[in-house]
Amino acid sequence: MPDTPAPVSLPTPSTARPVPGQLTFAAPRRGKPPQHLADLDPAERRSAVEALGMPGFRATQLSTHYFERLVGSADEMTDLPKAIRDELVSGMLPRLITPVRTLEADRGATIKSVWRLHDGALVESVLMRYPKRVTICISSQAGCGMNCPFCATGQGGLTRNMSTAEIVEQVVHSARLLRSGQLSGGPEDSPLRVSNVVFMGMGEALANYRAAIGAIRRMTDPSPDGLGMSARGITMSTVGLVPAIDRLAKEGVPVTLALSLHAPDDELRDELVPINTRWKVDEAIDAAHRYFEATGRRVSIEYALIRDMNDQAWRAELLGKKLNRRGRGWVHVNPIPLNPTPGSKWTASEPKVEHEFVRRLRGLGIPTTIRDTRGSDIDGACGQLAAATA
Ligand code: SAH
Repeated sequence: MPDTPAPVSLPTPSTARPVPGQLTFAAPRRGKPPQHLADLDPAERRSAVEALGMPGFRATQLSTHYFERLVGSADEMTDLPKAIRDELVSGMLPRLITPVRTLEADRGATIKSVWRLHDGALVESVLMRYPKRVTICISSQAGCGMNCPFCATGQGGLTRNMSTAEIVEQVVHSARLLRSGQLSGGPEDSPLRVSNVVFMGMGEALANYRAAIGAIRRMTDPSPDGLGMSARGITMSTVGLVPAIDRLAKEGVPVTLALSLHAPDDELRDELVPINTRWKVDEAIDAAHRYFEATGRRVSIEYALIRDMNDQAWRAELLGKKLNRRGRGWVHVNPIPLNPTPGSKWTASEPKVEHEFVRRLRGLGIPTTIRDTRGSDIDGACGQLAAATA
């Protein structure tokens, strides 16, 4: 796919760059994105369609087009009377995200998309093809307020929360891209479907809770109400917002939880993941364990290996011990070599150090797999999403 030039200017972030350790929860207020079908549950959709002066059953027809057939343009909705089509589509399916740029890596198996939102804010998503699945990594906020010093998004501050439909639109647009044959390795692969969604793009989704849970419901509701995806294929990644983890456990949608731990001791984690100054390592791990108990879903612990910072064998041992203290079989660890970010003084651990870290954890009986890192050459890898289009 060609690397299209960016005809837009960068939005002015409404928060300044955060100072080290600063946490931002309240998203700056900006004009709300227009309401969209994907913001609403089926009952709300009927009311919204009726408010436009049309019978409620049109909402189901529209949902079928959008969620089941991935159709968004009025011309293709031939089962709807021509007289109302345009009004229905402009009222219920306003354009929320516009592709600004797409970049390919891994010989076409990875595509990063930069999207412009209605107010000019930019967000990114990354689509990745694997032998038996397609994963999309989506954003839930423009920017992020969690200020992790090794993450490019965190260093830019929080621009604003995304709406439910803006979050869902990333998945729907990508599903269309797949259906159109892009990202396919050949005819034997097609048709491809988005099988997995990870909330590992820009933002701390649990700090934008209502919109994020709405998006999860739209993705997991059976079609035509939603995309009909399995909750198991969806991963919610968090810095460890303990009350929100507990709330998620009670939603009855057993998505996979990933906890971005990055250090097993408070002294170091206070620096690497500033939310640790609110909820400590043990509190975060306890919440993750409660999530496992409530949902039966094995939790992932994310651990970016940073040279000479958090990669010592004793830290692997301490992590393993802390996890085992809560039980066996409830957790696995996903170390990932740190991806470089602009201005950061840190780099990835040496391969032999990485292997030793993994060996120690496995030695304690903790399933441990190094996370595959995709798209680092297009700044599409974890921690590199900064929506720079210059
Ligand atoms: N706010 C969520 C999602 C963010 S990104 C969270 O923190 O979990 C998803 C993962 O990428 C997180 O585990 C995050 O810590 C990790 N990450 C961030 N910057 C990284 C970097 N430079 N290299 C490797 N992983 C990184």
